[in-house]
Amino acid sequence: MIIGICGAGTMGRGIAITSLMAGHTVVLVDLSADACTAAVAAITKQLSTAVERGKLAQADFDACLTRCSTSTDVAAMAPCDIVIEAIAERLDIKHAFFQSVEKVCRPDAILASNTSSISIASLARCLQDPTRFVGLHFFNPAHIMKLVEVIRGPRTSDAVVQICVETARGMGKTPVVAKDAPGFIVNRIARNYYNEAQRVVMEGAATIEQTDALMQGLGFKMGPFALMDLIGVDVNLDVTKSQWQQFFYEPRFTPSLLQQQYVDAGLHGTKSGGGFRTTPSSE
Ligand code: NAD
Repeated sequence: MIIGICGAGTMGRGIAITSLMAGHTVVLVDLSADACTAAVAAITKQLSTAVERGKLAQADFDACLTRCSTSTDVAAMAPCDIVIEAIAERLDIKHAFFQSVEKVCRPDAILASNTSSISIASLARCLQDPTRFVGLHFFNPAHIMKLVEVIRGPRTSDAVVQICVETARGMGKTPVVAKDAPGFIVNRIARNYYNEAQRVVMEGAATIEQTDALMQGLGFKMGPFALMDLIGVDVNLDVTKSQWQQFFYEPRFTPSLLQQQYVDAGLHGTKSGGGFRTTPSSE
């Protein structure tokens, strides 16, 4: 299968690794040539680690890299069987991308979004054929996390859902078909993990470090602040805003001023070299 991935950031890279390791050909597209170059370096590094750990044969490593190409032109996605979009969590930006990709792709190609929160119904409405549109929500890091939410919009065809479920299984993932509700299942519940943690810190009830340590002590793999750094503090805030808006500004989903300040300051987490738990380098 030829899998097109748009967005060579945190998620696009992980989805590319997963797709390559499952034997697919990958066409990775990003507006930025630098992002493409950085993504290829990151993908190569992760695949090398897989070889070192005995999870990938050297011959397969070489084949993976041969099957991976990048472009800054959406027209490169013309031969793709599935296009997975992983760009900014904004309806207008995603609409512009899907309208352009629909023009270059085959009529039977599946168009999928890795959106964390935006309704599949509203994303699909910009398309000539909304029956081929679906949510395909991988989790971060996408090459490691097993769960994939397959989100059926009101007009998504059964065949498209079925192909996505089978494709995710073929990648070694555990697909769960979810309904089209704001934040779907995981992000809706997880919003409270991030938002309540920030309220605790803003009220002075605990520090960022204490909050993370306590939640880890309880058994969570990562505390909420370390997790927001991994996700991207900016991406996480966009998801919170999107979910809040879609729930008609319900107070329980209100975004945090603390997070807005970090985003305004460019402290976007691991990818930016500074965040809640990521110390900026002294260079
Ligand atoms: P990111 O900021 O790391 O990367 C986004 C990439 O998209 C950038 O390289 C940017 O140059 C590129 N881009 C932006 N607009 C583009 C366009 N019109 N055409 C081509 N490339 C474009 O973002 P991310 O964290 O990978 O998130 C991407 C999507 O995945 C978002 O919808 C997000 O909500 C979702 N998501 C993120 C996570 C996470 O933990 N970060 C987890 C699950 C889902």
